[in-house]
Amino acid sequence: MSHDTTSRCTLCDRLVLGLAGHDWTVLPWMVAPATGVLPGPCHVRCLDDLGCAASWAAAVEAYHCKRWPLWLAGVDAGIRWRLHSSRSARRFHLWRSDGRLSSFPYAILTATNALRLATDLAEIGTTHAATLLAAMGTDAEGVAVPLTSVVTALDLADRYPHLSGTVTRGPAGLVTARHTLPLPPSCRRAAHHLMRTPW
Ligand SMILES: [Zn+2]
Repeated sequence: MSHDTTSRCTLCDRLVLGLAGHDWTVLPWMVAPATGVLPGPCHVRCLDDLGCAASWAAAVEAYHCKRWPLWLAGVDAGIRWRLHSSRSARRFHLWRSDGRLSSFPYAILTATNALRLATDLAEIGTTHAATLLAAMGTDAEGVAVPLTSVVTALDLADRYPHLSGTVTRGPAGLVTARHTLPLPPSCRRAAHHLMRTPW
């Protein structure tokens, strides 16, 4: 995914950072015209505020099932989830009935550690990167700034709740977030099962 241009939420006009489980690019077939949601990037929280996160997730559900027909499913705290496995890409695609979808590689699953994702947010030199560095309060390389403070400085704390991690300007000219991805224990067990089983 390219972050060359600044993404703004079609619903609240605030920045969309591209963090798994918190935002998404809505495609035309994913939303009913009656919802008033336009195609483009948006926060899952904004869909939720409109009352259409579940219907959006339902539309995406069929696509996931067709695209990645290998899955295990469960329910966690009333939220239905389905973990799809793409064996060729060695990636999981997590669908959730509350719309907090994410995708992550097999490789980040270890037996005990929290799942940690690295997401490249912007390329140095773009307007988006400049905005992020200003929110970080430093443009020095290698300084890990808490993700929550960056999100707060961007006035996005209510759109990206329960975040844990850091944002860093790396040597390769990218601003990168390193953050955890919470997975319910049942979902984690499903992931290990999917990785181990020769289907
Ligand atoms: Zn929004």
